[in-house]
Amino acid sequence: MSKNDADDHSHDFLYGKSPLIDAMARLGFFAYDMENQRILCNELWRSWGYDENDMRNQRLRDICHPDDREKVERLFRSMQSGTQAMNQEIFRIHTARGRWVWIRHCGMTVTRSGTDGIGLYVGLDTDLTDLKESEERLRLLTVQSELHAKEMETLLKAASIVSSSLDVNEAVKLILEQAKLVIPYDKASVQILHNDGLELIGGNGFEDISAAIGMRFPYPEKGSMSTLAIDERKPVVCRDVAKDFPGFIRPEQSNLTRSWMGIPLVAHGNVLGLLSFNHLQEAYYTERHMQLASGFAVQVAIALENARLHEKTYKLAMEDALMGIGSRHLFNIQGALMYENARRKKTVLSVAMVDLDHFKAINDTYGHDTGDCVLKEIGRLCRQDSRVTDLVARYGGEEIVFLFPETNIQTAMMISERFRQLISGSDFGLSGRAITISTGIAAGIPDQAGSLADLLKRADSALYTAKKNGRNRIEVYGSA
Ligand code: GH3
Ligand code: MG
Ligand code: MG
Repeated sequence: MSKNDADDHSHDFLYGKSPLIDAMARLGFFAYDMENQRILCNELWRSWGYDENDMRNQRLRDICHPDDREKVERLFRSMQSGTQAMNQEIFRIHTARGRWVWIRHCGMTVTRSGTDGIGLYVGLDTDLTDLKESEERLRLLTVQSELHAKEMETLLKAASIVSSSLDVNEAVKLILEQAKLVIPYDKASVQILHNDGLELIGGNGFEDISAAIGMRFPYPEKGSMSTLAIDERKPVVCRDVAKDFPGFIRPEQSNLTRSWMGIPLVAHGNVLGLLSFNHLQEAYYTERHMQLASGFAVQVAIALENARLHEKTYKLAMEDALMGIGSRHLFNIQGALMYENARRKKTVLSVAMVDLDHFKAINDTYGHDTGDCVLKEIGRLCRQDSRVTDLVARYGGEEIVFLFPETNIQTAMMISERFRQLISGSDFGLSGRAITISTGIAAGIPDQAGSLADLLKRADSALYTAKKNGRNRIEVYGSA
């Protein structure tokens, strides 16, 4: 190598004071001239608190992010191998001011010194920190909005479950399954508030839910988080039940609940109960979980309220308010089903029509209210005396109808006779005056031609015969 060649490699122009070089350094340009032990440090390195000496000492190795070390080593190898190819890497650097920054490094080896050393290396550093930070913000926002969308979706599903299901147990189970997608839990349960405590009526995550249903939890109880949630009508989060929830009852022996969250179930201003979530990890539930759980609690409360209203409406339509036995409407619906069942199975079915004797006279003597009390008491005796498989309903004013499935005429007579004696032997508080009933019975195996109405007509006709034959007696259709 001639002296002149060496001079050509001195690149003195890079280190002189010139507006061009100054502008280049400000733009991020740098030169690493190891042949002449001279370095042009760019403004970026200076703004991080580093200078030529740091560049010379290859400080990059020490100050790069541990996760990016491999990239930096690759860069060094490439610098030293001295190819004319462009190196490009993006990595993080810890500045002397204590902050992580992202840089994009582009550079190439212009000349080499010796066999594997760098002669001249030039490059351009660009600060990508702002870009990376907005990328990260965008990523977080995307994750967050995806999460919110999922939360909304599960809540909407819970709402549609409530509007499409009348079975409260099924609805509670499905709502809790939806909740689990956004509120992780070990166990979740719904507890109904009674005068004397809380009763578990549904849940998810239990080893044996049938054993858990019906469990009782005390209310009101001093220091209890459940009591606090119900009394204050707001969600309560307990970070560690062992410390903060005295008297916490573990629904299952193996349960190692640490975190607990309880949300009151409120409908029309009344607290119906509590929705609770258990988690094995301490301090698990956050403000966000609490907000979400409140959304699910609204759905559970609606499901409970719907079930209550449905039951009330059903009762109003299907039960006679005075006598507490089935209504005529119930008789029509259930009677048709029982008749159809007997037709399919070809089994015998009996009907007993009962009418109180001279009841008008009771009303006239003791007043209508007393007459009502008698009817009420007869209703109670009907319920007490009948089997669950029998259908008993108030057919008219003081007329009662019994439908006995899989019961022949002899058995129907025996049951009716027992009932006749029960009534005539009961004290209705009418100064010793007895109440008697007349009964007409009809029985048969339904055939294609017959109907329940026909059977009723026959029983009614037998009842007419019983009245005619002196009352307080039983007559069977077709036996005269
Ligand atoms: P019998 O059946 O023995 O021929 O005589 P009865 O006096 O009972 O005559 P009937 O069955 O025709 O009359 C029914 C009476 O029952 C008339 C009515 O005042 C009374 N009654 C019907 N529904 C009620 C009710 O809801 N409350 C009361 N207190 N009385 C009723
Ligand atoms: Mg009568
Ligand atoms: Mg009558």
